Amino acid sequence: MVDPQITLVPASTRRAGLRGRLGLLGEAESQLEVLKAQTMAEMARRHDTAGAKKMARDVLRSSPSKAHHDVKAAERLAGLAATSEALASGEVPADHARLIARASSEGPIDERELVEAAKTQTYDELAKTVKRQQHELSGDDGQSIHDRRKQKRSARLFQSGDTGMYVLNAEFDPITGNRIAGALADKERELWRAEDPKRRRTHQQRAADALAELILHPENGRVAGVALVLVADYDASRRELVNARISNGTPLPAGELVKLACEADIFPAVSNARTQDLWLGRRRRCASDAQRIALMVRDKACVGCGADANRSFSHHIEHWKNGGKTDYPNLVTVCNDCHSDIHDRHYQVEHDRLTGMHSIVPPPEAFPDTGTDTWQPRHINSVLLN
Ligand SMILES: [Zn+2]
Repeated sequence: MVDPQITLVPASTRRAGLRGRLGLLGEAESQLEVLKAQTMAEMARRHDTAGAKKMARDVLRSSPSKAHHDVKAAERLAGLAATSEALASGEVPADHARLIARASSEGPIDERELVEAAKTQTYDELAKTVKRQQHELSGDDGQSIHDRRKQKRSARLFQSGDTGMYVLNAEFDPITGNRIAGALADKERELWRAEDPKRRRTHQQRAADALAELILHPENGRVAGVALVLVADYDASRRELVNARISNGTPLPAGELVKLACEADIFPAVSNARTQDLWLGRRRRCASDAQRIALMVRDKACVGCGADANRSFSHHIEHWKNGGKTDYPNLVTVCNDCHSDIHDRHYQVEHDRLTGMHSIVPPPEAFPDTGTDTWQPRHINSVLLN
């Protein structure tokens, strides 16, 4: 068992700025997480899983699903020494550790490599690293992972007793999910264009309306758009397609690529970034389908926050009203929120020439940490502070 040498929240947080305080609290949270997990795993070992869940419900007053989730996560973490150690030392955040633990229950992983990645990567980056590694270690080009994900599909529609609203909850494999996201985003764009600009719906309302329209009025048809973008590299020496993936980077077994390529509504294009149709200049303001595909492949997701590319749009880096062109190098994929950051909060699009990737950075001193010595959280517990 790892001994995390609990310091919890040291007295120094009193003097730390808000940024420093948040960092210390994050470390303390990781330490508590590992202690709680070890305690639950030990309960499960001494009694059984059901006994541990019951105790979690009695002692922590957790809901049945939270107790189930926590005990399962604790049992997984108990088998992962390197992850527990990194969590206890505060080097790896709790959510990252949970991601590694879940992956370990799905098949073979290289724990050391994932822990090293978890020390520096954001949550979304780590999720991608996990997916890539699972694919590499699967031994069957990721086919078993893909089949398992398909098996796990589920949907549930129920009326909430609390609000009287209907709640739709569903999980799909990456290919089906990506196609649904594409169709939904197309419908949302159609609704957006039909709106009175002075009385816009919220994004959530528009998504709900789009979903209802697709289910209740299929006769209104699908809007023409991009259904699913698949990407693969061509290995010239072996003369075959390798490294098949969805445009968001999710690896695909080659067998699935072949199956999908036979379907009619898949866009069968090989984009060449140098072709003329990606350079539209001032001829049109909106990106073309060919540009959107090229951007999805290059950016994979919103370059600011990683939101689904289907739900994002093409932003002119040099703004259209300042004479910016609708050319591939002047366009970048951003979601609505990140778009507002650029226009309303002066965020800048940055281009890394080495990796070719774009990102969005806040203006200098966007969030100054201006000394908070006198500020104290309310309801402070002195035990935790010493
Ligand atoms: Zn974004």
